[in-house]
Amino acid sequence: MVHRSPRQNVDLRSLTYPELEELVLSMGERRFRAEQLFRWLHGQGITRLDQMTNVSRELRARLGQETTLTTLRPLEALGSADGSTKLAFATADGHVVESVLMPEERKVSVCLSTQVGCAMGCAFCATAGLGLVRSLCAGEIVDQLYRIRAWLHQRGDTRRISNVIYMGMGEPLANLGGVRRSLEMLMHPLGANLSSRRITVSTVGLVPGIHRMATWSFQVNLAVSLNATTQATRERLMPTAKKNPIPRLLQALRAFPLEKRRRITFEYVLIADTNDSDEDAARLLRLVAPIPCKLNVIPLNPTDACNLRPPGAERVDAFCSIIRRSGCTVITRNSRGSDIGAACGQLAGRLHEETGPA
Ligand code: SF4
Repeated sequence: MVHRSPRQNVDLRSLTYPELEELVLSMGERRFRAEQLFRWLHGQGITRLDQMTNVSRELRARLGQETTLTTLRPLEALGSADGSTKLAFATADGHVVESVLMPEERKVSVCLSTQVGCAMGCAFCATAGLGLVRSLCAGEIVDQLYRIRAWLHQRGDTRRISNVIYMGMGEPLANLGGVRRSLEMLMHPLGANLSSRRITVSTVGLVPGIHRMATWSFQVNLAVSLNATTQATRERLMPTAKKNPIPRLLQALRAFPLEKRRRITFEYVLIADTNDSDEDAARLLRLVAPIPCKLNVIPLNPTDACNLRPPGAERVDAFCSIIRRSGCTVITRNSRGSDIGAACGQLAGRLHEETGPA
């Protein structure tokens, strides 16, 4: 519901299309204004209301007085030898969030943050050290994509952003409201018009959130960071596993009403002498067997935040061969941007230390 009075707290960029319609009608404007506004806010990704050239000066002035427009301020871009770029942005209240851009031949994938910091405390993650500051609103989530689009445009890069992964700072299912709204906006044909098949929400496995996602009227891809095959190891790596034990998590995933041709992705960060044994590979196969899935095995990107390290190449190969031999789809990839600290939270952590919140 749109809060009618006062409207000062309404962030235009966080309103879904029906809410924007409700807003313009409540201001005594005609319904088609919502379409104009939505195109400017999400199709064009404007940063100032006066850029809406087909909207009357009077309406722009009223919107300026009665609402806000969330826009992130680009702070820094760090390029990696592998072609990925990490971008840091400042929120209006002075916090730092980061996104990662991963170019491929004809398209670009982006990884978006959903929170400032994170409360999940994963042992291998730089963001965990920041703690949770706050969740991002939907406008701040989608604006990361619009700022990246503008950044590409400035460089004359005409590649389209076609894939979006909610896997930056924060746990998406701990910000379900903001995430759901942002997804609706990114998929809207008047906005970025992204296909739901090209959007992935990645979670540490919060069971209540997975149940809620199962009730949504639309579906995007679901990825779950499993990272261990025993409850004890998982709890050591991901404290949130205590409340979301492996059997309950797998039960929620088995019950997830997957659309045709969709599969759950299990992410498995491979850590030396922790979860990389042949027995782990065999257990992993048994755990995921009842679920239509693919496995994404990623050797750990070491950070200063912990003393865990990735296994050597031979161990990674041995682990993946066991999985491949079973016929299960396994994708192995190195952490993108390890030379620029692209593990989530590393750049934001440094900028936070250097500048501090405003
Ligand atoms: S890995 Fe993800 S969920 Fe875990 S602490 Fe880092 S940002 Fe949070």
